[in-house]
Amino acid sequence: MVKSIPADTREYWVERLLAWYECSGRKDLPWQQHVTPYSVWVSEIMLQQTQVSTVLRYFERFMHRFPTIHALSAAPIEEVLPYWAGLGYYRRAHLLHNGARYVVQEYGCGLPATLEEWIKVPGIGRSTAGAILALGMNRRGVILDGNVQRLLARWHAVTDPKGSSAFLKRLWQLAETYTPEHHAREYGQVMMDLGAIVCTSHQPRCDLCPVADGCQALVQGLVQDLPTPKAVKAVPLRRRHALLVHDGAGRALLIRRPGQGIWPGLYVFPELPEWTELYEDPWDHVVFSGDRPPFMGRLQHRFSHFQLDWYLWGVTSWLSVGDVDSLWYAYAYPQQPSVAVPSPVARILKELAVTRQVLCRKYQKELPGLVMPPFPGPRGQKIFEQVSQQAWQEWLRHQTMLINENHLNVMESSTQTFLAEQLEKFLDNADYDRPKGYVPPKP
Ligand code: SF4
Repeated sequence: MVKSIPADTREYWVERLLAWYECSGRKDLPWQQHVTPYSVWVSEIMLQQTQVSTVLRYFERFMHRFPTIHALSAAPIEEVLPYWAGLGYYRRAHLLHNGARYVVQEYGCGLPATLEEWIKVPGIGRSTAGAILALGMNRRGVILDGNVQRLLARWHAVTDPKGSSAFLKRLWQLAETYTPEHHAREYGQVMMDLGAIVCTSHQPRCDLCPVADGCQALVQGLVQDLPTPKAVKAVPLRRRHALLVHDGAGRALLIRRPGQGIWPGLYVFPELPEWTELYEDPWDHVVFSGDRPPFMGRLQHRFSHFQLDWYLWGVTSWLSVGDVDSLWYAYAYPQQPSVAVPSPVARILKELAVTRQVLCRKYQKELPGLVMPPFPGPRGQKIFEQVSQQAWQEWLRHQTMLINENHLNVMESSTQTFLAEQLEKFLDNADYDRPKGYVPPKP
């Protein structure tokens, strides 16, 4: 049975909250500057299941590249995904993109105006539509995101399990009742701010709360218990084998996933459902030869509905890459923003950059390679591929001695030619013009 809220309680609530917002609300977040319905829409989608601190790193970059609904709608999804890579829940990026296309198609240069119209846009639910109306258009809009749910559930001591239909029904009724006709933007913002800053899930600051004197959870000693968590469902485990196909020159093979399922449209390591397929069937995407690939490590990633267990196998010899959307990702170079990879794959690529091994030209054995070419151009690239960190450090010391002993001016082209010749000799262990007193260290 839904109890009605007395008018004076509603007035108390709205007055206290608006006064708190005036002094303590957040006003300097990037999506609170130059506010448009579109900027609110983008920020709301990014903030779903994601911390503000994380979104801060993505929002401005995204808005700079796609400043309007039209710019987003005109871009292919392949261009959008790299700007989302790392935020997770990639379906949101697809839905945002679809939503932008829908709005342009249906409204041209206009925008949806009502709650009902916004809800029809792909990816926009009732709370996001309420946020766009309130924060983006300064019209009455009812918001019930996770922060608002927690605040209202505690204030009214709603004990139904979080996410249950009874819980949501009660909270929507409360949110509808409290939302005033006036101060739409400020009220929408304060509801989210209070949940995010004061009525936090861990260690709420009830001492700072502007509505503490009416809080039922506080009176009943239930603050830490509410909202009642959902019953935890055991998530199924999915085991996959992925191939780390690398070419020895700092590049790994990545294959683009289909537009549905996990990581839609993102580039990942080629993967197999079962290890036996590596041997028993020629694989569709990569046909490789040679010995059993070495085990490189295990990676676990939790999705909302299952746990992914990835076993990574290193492959350095292969015969062909089939007809799939693939690329060689140069992990040893600074990040390539045009390639969208999910964060677990990005983590591995970063680790590979640090632990990259090269068959060192000077010492004729595998040693840690340089993290990036020492200078631009083909010569820098060649050194990057054939020289270990150890050999390069050694050459730098040797080069310094050559310069000092021979009183060389590095700005002169004759010096540069001389040093380039010496470098080749040094790398080939040929006789070179060893300065006086130089003793090469043992490799
Ligand atoms: S008093 Fe504490 S629990 Fe109640 S609404 Fe305020 S911060 Fe939340």
